[in-house]
Amino acid sequence: MEKIDIKSLTLEELTQHIVGLGEPKFRAKQIYEWLHQKHAFSFSEMTNISAKFQQRLESVFYIDSLKMIKKLVSQIDNTVKYLYELRDGEFVECVLMEYRHGTSICISSQVGCKMGCTFCASTIAGFVRNLTPSEMLDQIYCSALDSGRKISSVVMMGIGEPLDNYDNVLRFLELVSDENGMNLSLRHLSLSTCGLVERICDLAEKRLGLTLSVSLHAPNDTVRSKTMPVSRRYSMNELLKACRFYAEETHRRISFEYALIRGVNDSKRDAEELASRLRGMLCHVNLIPVNPVEEAGYQAAAREDVFRFQNLLLSMGINTTVRRTLGADIHAACGQLRRNSQNVKR
Ligand code: SAH
Repeated sequence: MEKIDIKSLTLEELTQHIVGLGEPKFRAKQIYEWLHQKHAFSFSEMTNISAKFQQRLESVFYIDSLKMIKKLVSQIDNTVKYLYELRDGEFVECVLMEYRHGTSICISSQVGCKMGCTFCASTIAGFVRNLTPSEMLDQIYCSALDSGRKISSVVMMGIGEPLDNYDNVLRFLELVSDENGMNLSLRHLSLSTCGLVERICDLAEKRLGLTLSVSLHAPNDTVRSKTMPVSRRYSMNELLKACRFYAEETHRRISFEYALIRGVNDSKRDAEELASRLRGMLCHVNLIPVNPVEEAGYQAAAREDVFRFQNLLLSMGINTTVRRTLGADIHAACGQLRRNSQNVKR
């Protein structure tokens, strides 16, 4: 029989398994704490479990863990980027960032990505597979252990489209916020999506309290279709309708990501059209100077053009921030490290 990935089980599911193995319920909570609070790598570390039952556990479950392959520390701002190897030899990356309010981690949700955004390094080599809940958690656990930093917020903005791995992501959200585990308030978690409309609505109905970031990158379908193939599946009208629904259901402000690409989406007209479409919505716009990816051939908008775009939006009543660039010296943008490791392998 195939062994079960124990770290991907919710406490309720683990309890069912443990009771099924003839042990009392509280045993499940002990094991859960070993996995999610004390970060045990093996059953033999679980000192309040008998050696006999440890062996039984070993025969039914496995404890997944990531192997650190590379760690880059920015000399500029202490950003740390990790490349981890998964059980099957695939790679994922995540980034630790220091902010005034604490340490934030940006995690991946898939190996590769199907979405095909033309400016994004994560999607160039295509999609390999979804990450399991434990692989998402372990990016947090392993990075916290290695760095000795306490992680106070999580952003799902690394490799992959989280809403394309919906079931595992929901389970991850349950695990990461469990009071017997990491106990992260979902108020301190942001999930970024390129805009899978049905899933945004499903998530809205769950009212989990997390922040939804939507990668918009354009003021209309024509501009959006140049860089984001997903715009052929969902029009911007449909997407913005789902975003309004999300904001109304959850009372949470949507964060629209907008990477400024010179000559593609950075004109005055683009700003005006964007403002007119977003007016009245509980939202804000986060401008990002696009991170040039070799294969795409795009140029980042100049710093002053980013601020010009910001000021235009602000003058039209749209709350707009410019994302700080962190880890510029270590290729901290998503997908770049895994991409580089693939180039090295070839
Ligand atoms: N699939 C999700 C999350 C992963 S990407 C999504 O699309 O939102 C995280 C964010 O980085 C997205 O806003 C994405 O559009 C943006 N991004 C990707 N490549 C980028 C680049 N080269 N420069 C700037 N932002 C980029």
